[in-house]
Amino acid sequence: MSRQSSSLLAIAAVTLALIPAPALAHTTPTPTPPAGKAAAAKKTPKPVDCTQVKCIALTFDDGPGKYAGTLLDTLKKYNAKATFFLEGQYVKSRPSYVKRMAEEGHELGNHSYKHPKFTEIEPWAIRSEIKKTQDEVKKAAGVEPKILRPPYGLADLQVTEVAAEFDMPIVLWTAGSRDWDTKNVEAIKKQTLEIAEQDGIILMHDWVKQTVDAMPSIVKTLQSRGYHLVTVSEVVKKQDLKPGDVFPLPQGWEN
Ligand SMILES: [Zn+2]
Repeated sequence: MSRQSSSLLAIAAVTLALIPAPALAHTTPTPTPPAGKAAAAKKTPKPVDCTQVKCIALTFDDGPGKYAGTLLDTLKKYNAKATFFLEGQYVKSRPSYVKRMAEEGHELGNHSYKHPKFTEIEPWAIRSEIKKTQDEVKKAAGVEPKILRPPYGLADLQVTEVAAEFDMPIVLWTAGSRDWDTKNVEAIKKQTLEIAEQDGIILMHDWVKQTVDAMPSIVKTLQSRGYHLVTVSEVVKKQDLKPGDVFPLPQGWEN
């Protein structure tokens, strides 16, 4: 478009804006945007860029737990995403939750098959724990986890080497809800909201009923504080993690 024609357009726009209100007075009141259209636009998922907006990742370990269905309902209601670090043995017994998690846009991580301490078992046993869980998740949801969180967050050089064989970085957490310890709705809410921070990775458990009960209030409050609840991979994207990397680095680990 030439400069001249764009100037003309600009003049036209100004002219329209300057039409005095009375000229429009005989018409019906300015219609509000159709509600249906606005609502539909709102529902279209937009990619969230955590370098531009305030993000936080809620992560649920050891599941799918008994209450995963209720938790998924809550997340869906508030259009929030979460990450589930799954235990293979429960993926096997509750595959439908895992399928739903994947379908509803949540992230699936590997959290071993039966929750042994990876720092106390042989590399072949670590491999077997990871592989069996990958296979169960694939069977249940058609996708394979791309991140690992070893049980208790315990990792050493050997664990990172096995993780690298599976092309997975290790993702731990920045703070814990202590839900497994308090098992109290108010305490879980208070602790979670206290530790919430930009790009935080919060450790929770979907086998704790009180966590699932506290979730509507936690999600609403976080969103009212401007947080986007996203998957953990969104939050760590800027770290550019490579297979075998650990994030955040545990105390005492050198970068
Ligand atoms: Zn665990």
